[in-house]
Amino acid sequence: MTQKNNLLIIASILGLLALSVVQGYLIKNTYMLKKESFVNKANQEVSRIDDYTPEIDSINEAWQRTFIKTLDKYSLKTISKKKVLTRLRTITDSLNDDFIKEYEKELKTKKLGYGLQFHKKVTNIILIDSIQIDTIFKGENKPVFKLLGSDFKEQRDLQISNSVWHTERSFTKKIGGKVKRSFYQLYFETQDYINIDQWNTIVFNQMKGLLVLSFIVFLFVFGLLYYSVKNLITQKRISDIKTDFINNITHELKTPLATLSLATKMLKKDEVKSHRELLDNTIHTVERQNIRLQKLIDQVLDNSLGYKEITLQKESVFLNEFMQALLNDFCLSIEEKDIIVKRSFLKDDIEVFVDKFYVTTALLNMLENAVKYGATEVHVSLYNTTTHIEISIKDNGIGISKNQQAYLFDKFYRVPTKEVHNVKGLGLGLYYSNQVIKAHEGDITIESRENKGAIFKVKIPKI
Ligand code: ATP
Ligand code: MG
Repeated sequence: MTQKNNLLIIASILGLLALSVVQGYLIKNTYMLKKESFVNKANQEVSRIDDYTPEIDSINEAWQRTFIKTLDKYSLKTISKKKVLTRLRTITDSLNDDFIKEYEKELKTKKLGYGLQFHKKVTNIILIDSIQIDTIFKGENKPVFKLLGSDFKEQRDLQISNSVWHTERSFTKKIGGKVKRSFYQLYFETQDYINIDQWNTIVFNQMKGLLVLSFIVFLFVFGLLYYSVKNLITQKRISDIKTDFINNITHELKTPLATLSLATKMLKKDEVKSHRELLDNTIHTVERQNIRLQKLIDQVLDNSLGYKEITLQKESVFLNEFMQALLNDFCLSIEEKDIIVKRSFLKDDIEVFVDKFYVTTALLNMLENAVKYGATEVHVSLYNTTTHIEISIKDNGIGISKNQQAYLFDKFYRVPTKEVHNVKGLGLGLYYSNQVIKAHEGDITIESRENKGAIFKVKIPKI
């Protein structure tokens, strides 16, 4: 049963974990899709700005024209590769402010509702002439050469398009009195990037509903699982307690019943019938066992009362006096056992209002427990505060581990250890004591550790 329950709990937790992973995966996918569709939409809005705005177009033409002249010089070997790139940077830098201004002007007309920046990066510059393929710049996978547009960090950019500027040049030039012919093809590849201010916040906002809903569903499923597991554990505990109780009561009933059956058998025998003294003894045994059985049944019935069902008949008693009498009786009942009972009473006796009968039984239950569970010394102390009186019963017995303490006052509960099961009991004593003190609007607390004895503190408010 326990193994089955544990398996069930582990399987449910694993199921919940798997569900969370699937949910996380789906949310991540939705995020990617939303991001893609958002970038596509933004791209659609801005893709034409660069190519179809006349002012931007003329800026593009201007740098291209100047750059071609630089390349002409390079093809005639009058300048170096490095110089070509430095020139390109100088040309674009000089035009960049105008470019950004025009771009932003155009962007304003789109009314996007969010801030957007744009820039172009160079990925490849290749010159092909009749002899060779000459790579002037190669950005590989990570283009680093910004051409036109605003500066923004690489990790924030969203690539929107690639473009190639392909042109052919054929010209002649007089150098040092000689006419030189030159021909080349240019492949100028660029990539366009945009940066949208807080684009991830925008995408998250679009997913807010979904995130909240999945969180609620997750909480709901988690709550259900938690509730079911808790229920399962409680049910298991109740069923264990019931089984224990049935075992205990059967055990308790067995002895008087066996004695009764023996006594009946004896009563049938002629020698007993004819022997007056033997007959009386046997009848006494039957009587005693009958009383014992009756007591057991009464104990179960009476001690099962809840505090609301207890009707108190409170009377005025002097605490020291009341406790003195109670402990004297208790000492008589344990006379043959070697147990020391210490008393620390109040300096000045006080009057309290309690139901003598119920409180006596409640305290005796605790005192009997101390003796039952291994104490050789019991120390009863009384305290008087402004609001309540306290009766503390301290013993040096086997003690109770922390995790068992929460259940001690439950009906039929007994600490599940071998030592305890050697001691008879129904697990009703502390339940009953607690109900009695509760009926007096007080409470019982316990301080104990395994093998370190126990202190039961009974607090009753003064009226
Ligand atoms: P009964 O109904 O006959 O009193 P019981 O003594 O087993 O049976 P409770 O008095 O309710 O039942 O006590 C519940 C359990 O708490 C006991 O079975 C025992 O394990 C533990 N317990 C109670 N008092 C002490 C104590 N002073 N020291 C150690 N364990 C204790
Ligand atoms: Mg008891």
